[in-house]
Amino acid sequence: MASNPLAPSAALVASVKQSAAQPALYDTAAIQKLDSAHYLHPFTDFQDLNAKGARVMVRGDGIYLWDSQGKKLLDGMSGLWCVNVGYGRTSISEAVYRQMETLPFYNSFFNTTNVPAVLLAAKLVALAPPQFNHVFFTGSGSEANDTNLRMVRRYWDLLGQPERHTVISRHNSYHGSTVAGASLGGMDGMHAQGGLPIPGIVHIGQPNYFEGGKGMTEDAFGLLAASWLEQKILEVGADKVAAFIGEPVQGAGGVLIPPATYWPEIQRICDKYGILLIADEVICGFGRLGKWFASELFGIKPDLITFAKGVTSGYIPLGGVLVGDRVADVLIAKGGDFNHGFTYSGHPVACAAALENIRILEDEKLVQKVFDDTGPYLKERFATLGTHPLVGFADSCGFVAGLNLVRKKAAEAHDCELFDAGQGVGMICRGYMFGNGMIMRAVGDRMIIAPPLVMSRAQIDEMIALIRDCLDQTYADLQARGWV
Ligand SMILES: *Cc1c(COP(=O)(O)O)cnc(C)c1O
Repeated sequence: MASNPLAPSAALVASVKQSAAQPALYDTAAIQKLDSAHYLHPFTDFQDLNAKGARVMVRGDGIYLWDSQGKKLLDGMSGLWCVNVGYGRTSISEAVYRQMETLPFYNSFFNTTNVPAVLLAAKLVALAPPQFNHVFFTGSGSEANDTNLRMVRRYWDLLGQPERHTVISRHNSYHGSTVAGASLGGMDGMHAQGGLPIPGIVHIGQPNYFEGGKGMTEDAFGLLAASWLEQKILEVGADKVAAFIGEPVQGAGGVLIPPATYWPEIQRICDKYGILLIADEVICGFGRLGKWFASELFGIKPDLITFAKGVTSGYIPLGGVLVGDRVADVLIAKGGDFNHGFTYSGHPVACAAALENIRILEDEKLVQKVFDDTGPYLKERFATLGTHPLVGFADSCGFVAGLNLVRKKAAEAHDCELFDAGQGVGMICRGYMFGNGMIMRAVGDRMIIAPPLVMSRAQIDEMIALIRDCLDQTYADLQARGWV
């Protein structure tokens, strides 16, 4: 890259990184005060945050972050499930800089296009399963799922079946935070605000074996959970259902890995009733589960795939929908105008960032590594946490993993005694994790990670040791409270 006259000099990059590492340069209290005064954060209790003050992140490198007080943190969550290639990738900054200098923006409306968007669409199609030959770009995962809703309804309209309008989703799924995204999602807390879900979206139970599979084998539970889809189709009327949407592995819901029998049975039911299948791979795509797309891992053949997050490793916002031939052929041959799109659909800078991000994933063989090296190693090491007295159940898939904190262990995961939700044990545990420099997220009493795909075996060891320490500290705290 040194030959590129538009690239920022190495000295400049180094000086920025170095000054960012100097906590003395930051007045944390002043930043927090200004933050509280003016910045309304997403999914946040504003008053509560204002009382505590936000943690100010200032720098990232590889799998580590530094805050404004100089504290180093191991980022077990890849930012928010997205920084797949890790922080501090100068080649992405350079690709973005070059594109900004050349053409920072042009839209794709009015019969125009731009080079990075064309190259990225072709690249994504080459990486995607064979039934995909087209891409619709958006600015985020939420917008991509909005696009899905409009696209599947348009598809059935064009086929002369406008009554096929309903989309079936699942409780505790996450599909974004726009009106359609939040409606497709199955989060009670979100539905409770703003009159959601909108009409025409219904939900079935999630394939959560730990919660719902007591007394059954995992395989039997997977078939049962899939049968809820057929039940719902018959209840709504098979000729009124447009599509089913699901995350291959539920992310925000708590890293819920479905039984092996679940997805093939869902596919069979969708095929039986001719219903479109949408795989929301905003988290699962781009190597997170050891394949470019998790649909390959679970042996399903979706008609639409939602992507975002890992497509740019979060360096610049970008999302979209991979549109399978079944849908694209109808939209193209019979559609006329599709009256939908965004100012930033196919944003040249975002697409340039994605192309460089994908080049890194390919050149460093990160997807393959997660599949056959670091992913299995994480699985083996993460499972050892299952012996901790506070852990009822620990499992992983590729580079997502989760464990359940329980009051009392039992030989069978379903027989563990749970804490009361009101005790907030997950949040207590998360406090110890952050305090010790480990970013691990709490979903109720399930502690979850989704580390950057660049994490090495040695770093996996470092992370597991850190998690174990924090679990010990949490356990001692709960003992002192008399809760265990
Ligand atoms: C994050 C996420 C979304 C929403 O993406 P945004 O870019 O935040 O709009 C949608 N689906 C899944 C599965 C996600 O994890």
